[in-house]
Amino acid sequence: MNVADSEIVVSILVKAGYNLTDNINDAGLILINTCSVRDNAEQRILGRIKAISHLKKRKKDLKIGLIGCMAERLKEELLETEQVLDMVVGPDAYRELPLLVAQAEAGHKAVNVLLSREETYADISPVRMDKNGVSSFVSIMRGCNNMCTYCVVPYVRGAERSRNPVTIMNEVEELFQVGYREVTLLGQNVDSYKWVNNKEVMGFPELLENVAGLNPLIRVRFSTSHPKDISDDLLQRIARYDNICKHIHLPAQSGSSRILKLMNREYSREWYLDRVRAIRTIIPECSLSTDMITGFCTETIEDHKDSLSLMELAGFDFAYMFKYNERSGTKAARKYKDDVPEKIKSERLSEMISLQNKLSARSKKHDVGKTFEVLIEGVSKRSEAFLSGRTSQNKVVVFPRASLNKGDYVKVLIERCTSATLIGKSI
Ligand code: SAM
Ligand code: SF4
Repeated sequence: MNVADSEIVVSILVKAGYNLTDNINDAGLILINTCSVRDNAEQRILGRIKAISHLKKRKKDLKIGLIGCMAERLKEELLETEQVLDMVVGPDAYRELPLLVAQAEAGHKAVNVLLSREETYADISPVRMDKNGVSSFVSIMRGCNNMCTYCVVPYVRGAERSRNPVTIMNEVEELFQVGYREVTLLGQNVDSYKWVNNKEVMGFPELLENVAGLNPLIRVRFSTSHPKDISDDLLQRIARYDNICKHIHLPAQSGSSRILKLMNREYSREWYLDRVRAIRTIIPECSLSTDMITGFCTETIEDHKDSLSLMELAGFDFAYMFKYNERSGTKAARKYKDDVPEKIKSERLSEMISLQNKLSARSKKHDVGKTFEVLIEGVSKRSEAFLSGRTSQNKVVVFPRASLNKGDYVKVLIERCTSATLIGKSI
């Protein structure tokens, strides 16, 4: 999401006459886009600010700004604690950037952290910063209304709002015209996408179908689905289109219904497993990934075991796993005690990671001997002699280079696998 936002920021500034540079030493303006979901993301940013502060000594008129969620969370306070900063700009104020930069250039500290109920940057054509030119993000909504008790996102990104579908479709068309072959539709909870026009309502299943219908050569992915909202209707539409990727990222967070309730996730363990069953039945070839939080307030060993057993039962192909990190201002920080000791959080996380490593290895071994359609993203990072791409299931495949180009689709027979990659030959 931050990559997509940075592309909007670049677009706004390019329109105002600025150029993007790859070399930080050439920059007259440095903007650091930030995440606030966990404290370590913020600590890394503070480290980055320190690391670049010497640049100001060499270049007196250099301006440095902090943008995104951390700017929204800490606001003006950042200008006092991080004296090197000239600007603090929240995620809904990017249209104001040219003005704010001018203010900073005139020697004033510039701040805008107003959140909006409407801003979706719908009309802005992002300047793509990805390196492969094949796969791109397309933001379809902003903000979140869910209020999971551990999560800072609703506070720093504001209320949920959906983007006009016409602008989404136009953006995808434009991407196809310049060679892109895959888009990932982005939102904190894509299942609650809703666009109302003259009493006609477009939900996410219809939007996804419309985007997929634009061109069979464009693969469509999406992230993130919420288990409480993912419907059979959506799954049926995914099954119907070859170019809607057969991969769903469905964050479970915990396998214990008691913890899920405390997290305000609005589903139970049984509900989650029912959704997994629906996915397996309606889209048998679908891969499944998740996010898990370990050591949430009051989590017992039984709750932890429930998380492990849910992971086994769901058979995740991939997972992002985190130790619970209390974020000030959230309901969990206000109401619950962060009472699982750090050592136990770490032990539980290690246990989770080793289980997921087994599940991921099993999932890859299962693919050996099968043939997949792979969208080529470029030359393999490890060897010039190999090409690299991904299956519809979002698994990375490498295979010996043939007379093929990035952006081509190729059928690959999987011959073996490593812990992260499928290896095969094009057929
Ligand atoms: N909207 C998505 C959803 O609901 O699944 C995810 C958004 S969040 C930015 C990404 C992930 O960060 C979450 O799924 C959760 O696992 C993790 N996360 C959020 N807040 C956290 C916290 N306070 N401590 C640890 N992990 C957290
Ligand atoms: Fe955070 Fe929950 Fe919204 Fe995801 S759905 S962004 S975890 S509040």
